[in-house]
Amino acid sequence: MLVSRHVIFTTILAIILFPLYSYKVLFLFILGVLIDIDHYFEYAISKKDFNPWKAYQFYMENERKKIKRERKVHIFHLIEFWILILIITIYLKTDYMFLISAGLILHLSLDFYDAIKNKKHGRYNSIIQKLTAGPSSSTNLKA
Ligand SMILES: [Zn+2]
Repeated sequence: MLVSRHVIFTTILAIILFPLYSYKVLFLFILGVLIDIDHYFEYAISKKDFNPWKAYQFYMENERKKIKRERKVHIFHLIEFWILILIITIYLKTDYMFLISAGLILHLSLDFYDAIKNKKHGRYNSIIQKLTAGPSSSTNLKA
C-alpha cells in the first residue's frame, strides 16, 4: 500500500484518539507509518543501494506498474514482530505502547486489505513460512 494512504488513515485515527491521548497520538505514527522502513532495508540490502529516494522511486514504480516481485521478508511485517510488540504492550501497559500497537494494527489491516484487493502475495508473513517455503518459493516472479 502507498505510504500516503498509511499517513492519511493514521492521521484520521490520531484525530479520533487525540481527545483521549493528546499529543501522545504521535506514537501512532511509529508503527502506523514508519514500519514500512523495512521496505527500505530490503531494497538497500538487495540492490546494495542506500539512497532512500531511489528506494522510494523503486517501490512507487513497482506499485504504479503493478510489477510482481519475488516474495520478500519485511522484518517489521512478520507475525513474530507483532507478537513481540503485543507482549511488550501487555507487559508495560502504557499509553505509549497502546498507541504504538494501535498504529501497527491499523497499518497491517490496511496492508492485508490491499493484498487481498489487489491479489498481492509478495511478502512472507512469518519466519516459519519463509523457512518452510524452500528455495523455489518465488512464485510471483513475472517482471
Ligand atoms: Zn506495510
